[in-house]
Amino acid sequence: MTTISVIGLGIMGLPMAKNLVAAGHEVTGYNRSRGKVDAFVEAGGSGADSVRDAVREAEVILTMLPDSPDVEAVVGGEDGVFANAPEGALWIDASTIRPDVAVQLADRAREAGLRPLDAPVSGGEAGAVSGALSIMVGGEKADVDAAREVFEGVGKTIVHVGPSGSGQTVKAANQLIVAANIQALSEAVVFLEAYGVDTTAALEVLGGGLAGSKVLDQKGQKMLDRDFQPGFRLQLHHKDMGIVTAAAREAAVSIPLGALVAQLVGATVARGDGGLDHSGLFTLVETLSTASGDDLQA
Ligand code: NAD
Repeated sequence: MTTISVIGLGIMGLPMAKNLVAAGHEVTGYNRSRGKVDAFVEAGGSGADSVRDAVREAEVILTMLPDSPDVEAVVGGEDGVFANAPEGALWIDASTIRPDVAVQLADRAREAGLRPLDAPVSGGEAGAVSGALSIMVGGEKADVDAAREVFEGVGKTIVHVGPSGSGQTVKAANQLIVAANIQALSEAVVFLEAYGVDTTAALEVLGGGLAGSKVLDQKGQKMLDRDFQPGFRLQLHHKDMGIVTAAAREAAVSIPLGALVAQLVGATVARGDGGLDHSGLFTLVETLSTASGDDLQA
């Protein structure tokens, strides 16, 4: 049994914290909004009123926050993780943030006597709830080994991909692949509907061939139903497309498809749909076709 502090009890952090409780760990949760802490306490966890309280006795601190500035705010400062966690504690950042920020924060964590791991996840809310996340881990091997039992409480595929920052680099690639898949699937669905094809049958057969994917399995029916409840908010995928395009530019790598999809994700967010699930990228694809059809008839 490990004493774990989970900071950030949102769509992902709350079910991950619950799974750690179910795995037999002693878990304290903290979130900026108190309602989420209460929900965790109802589910059998302990609640804290501040980051300082949450981490004081923790052997492992797991942060699951939206973006780089949120992680910087929670770990830094006199009330933050670095100043208050016990010497030698493992700090696992499961948030998706910029790889360069992950490297800087890992250095600062080591200076503070902590053992940092960047460990972003893939698998969505469903994976968080079922404890089946894929976890891409950057950091020292000994620290990854020390954290393995905690990782096994929330994930199924746990891979050490390299030194600090590498987990975030792999996650950036993950987000590029997922966004491009969602875009292609959206275009295919709009295309199939325009021809009046039985789309449920079409997705079934497409899913069994080379066009099949987890994106198709998990998002296809939702597109047909126009059900874009999050899930993974488009606003967060917009952040991730910013991460991957900036990191690619930094490395002088061209990702033309990624850059295009980043623009489409940005446009969908800009028109007010950032709160939809990322499969809601479909709404822009649909509008592009619908609007041009209307214009031609007008
Ligand atoms: P979310 O917005 O639902 O949860 C984030 C939580 O952090 C919120 O409850 C918020 O109140 C809390 N928070 C923000 N700032 C805080 C602070 N300073 N102190 C304490 N709490 C604070 O987001 P999410 O969907 O759970 O995603 C979290 C991270 O995981 C993001 O980086 C996201 O990109 C990544 N991610 C999400 C999914 C998904 O499907 N939702 C999948 C993989 C990775």
